[in-house]
Amino acid sequence: MTAPETGLPETGLPEGTSRPRLLVRRYGDPVLSTPAQPVEALDDELADLVDKMWETLAAADGVGLAAPQVGVGLRLFVIDCPGPDDTHAKGVVVNPVLEVDERSRDLDSGEEGCLSVPGAWHEVARPGWARVTGVDEHGEPVSFEGTGLIARCLQHEYDHLDGIVYVDRLPRRARKRLLEEMGSPAWSDLARDERRDGSRDEQERV
Ligand SMILES: [Zn+2]
Repeated sequence: MTAPETGLPETGLPEGTSRPRLLVRRYGDPVLSTPAQPVEALDDELADLVDKMWETLAAADGVGLAAPQVGVGLRLFVIDCPGPDDTHAKGVVVNPVLEVDERSRDLDSGEEGCLSVPGAWHEVARPGWARVTGVDEHGEPVSFEGTGLIARCLQHEYDHLDGIVYVDRLPRRARKRLLEEMGSPAWSDLARDERRDGSRDEQERV
């Protein structure tokens, strides 16, 4: 996830460095719409993936990155996210479990961006408190919770593990406009779906 103030995320190699980084997949890539599988082995390969995800997140100036965004269909994400009142959530969560405060669903509507949807932000209403528990790459228990941007980020990254990008949560018209503006290849798919499904479009206009 990107915070609104972080500007356009980079997706190429940073200037003046040859540090290896992972390619961040763009919205429309099938890996982003496919539910991820639980991690079964906490091995060196996983530790190496986590290292590279940290590097990729830092280089892109994001606040969260989920494994499917780098083409790996496993249930883990990294966050480095500031919250209200000097709170901060930083860490990796493998096989996370998410809890949210459903009662506050309408109370927190904030702008959201995603490293897989570069250059775009949109208001998304989400519960205002969230907690994620799981383990780190060594199997140690971890837990992150918070409000504000932390709650938003935890839910945004967890969504990626279920094959959901925040764009998918927008009303159809807002989604169309956003994808059209960014010239996403996913836009043509949406347009095709809409031609096939004119009745749903009609319902949404009501
Ligand atoms: Zn994202």
